[in-house]
Amino acid sequence: MNTTDTDIAIIGSGPAGFTAALYASRSNLSVVVFEGVQPGGQLTITTDVENYPGFEHGILGPELMDVMRKQAHRFGATSRYETIARVDFSQRPFTLWNERGDQTRAKAVIIATGASAKLLGVPGESEYMGYGVSACATCDGFFFREQPVFIIGGGDTAMEEAIYLTKFASKVTIVHRRRDFRASRIMLERAQSNPKIDFMLDSVVEEYLGATNGHLKQLTHLRIRNTVTNDVQDVPASGVFVAIGHQPNTQLFSGILDMDDVGYIQTKGKSSQTNIPGVFACGDAQDSVYRQAITAAGSGCMAAIDAERWLGH
Ligand code: NDP
Repeated sequence: MNTTDTDIAIIGSGPAGFTAALYASRSNLSVVVFEGVQPGGQLTITTDVENYPGFEHGILGPELMDVMRKQAHRFGATSRYETIARVDFSQRPFTLWNERGDQTRAKAVIIATGASAKLLGVPGESEYMGYGVSACATCDGFFFREQPVFIIGGGDTAMEEAIYLTKFASKVTIVHRRRDFRASRIMLERAQSNPKIDFMLDSVVEEYLGATNGHLKQLTHLRIRNTVTNDVQDVPASGVFVAIGHQPNTQLFSGILDMDDVGYIQTKGKSSQTNIPGVFACGDAQDSVYRQAITAAGSGCMAAIDAERWLGH
């Protein structure tokens, strides 16, 4: 079992984590970034990022994260490709353990663990995940060339993924539980004007149905209920993408840090300070409102400045 000491431990490696790492390491603090299960965070499973300032023609999500990581490393931050499994914030220095039991002692901790895609939780979903059901169009869209696919959700993610999927699929049907959309007007209009995209509104997926043949299983139908008429139909489907929002990755801190009902970490006033002095939170783990790469990066900067001031640098 190894022990490492650092000024600041950053848990999470998306725009919030790496911006915090950049600012903290540039202030001459020793910084370790725990990259977690998805190094680079959610942007590594997107394609074009068109709304991150500074890139006139957009940039690919994985490329943006690669550059952010290199920029933080340039000033001395180090990455550990490990997941933190346990923390002790009851005494200082704070202690963090990875899955092997190696421990890191940190004078301050910045939590930037982000969020993960939510799922419907209806029968068949986990059974056919990876066998026709996916939560990431950019990861799996390619497998559905010239096939009709379905997207579940009515937000910007659903619209963006539907538009993306039209590059591969023969037809994309957006299944949404009501008639109004949470998506921004520009994204909705882009989807509505795309000839390959259809809408199935007032509709909910109640079950994923499939066939198993030996070791092979495959989604074959979606059981869809119309919420107005209550009619239920089994619609043939070999590919479906769930795009219904995200859940903050904060279970590790449950019972330790103050959170809202959904699990977003609560921070004090305009700062990134949690209820434990010396533990700071930024990015999608604490932001239920904006959830953008640029706001995550901004809050990562705030967390690093807060941590630096708290440490008395
Ligand atoms: P949102 O929370 O905005 O939307 C989730 C959608 O899924 C809603 O339409 C919601 O329906 C539906 N939904 C939620 N739970 C269920 C359920 N159990 N069954 C059926 N439908 C369900 O999440 P997004 O991921 O779309 O967007 C998150 C944030 O990221 C937003 O701020 C968005 O603007 C931003 N974003 C921006 C992009 C861009 O600008 N390029 C791209 C992608 C995301 P209902 O409306 O009825 O609640």
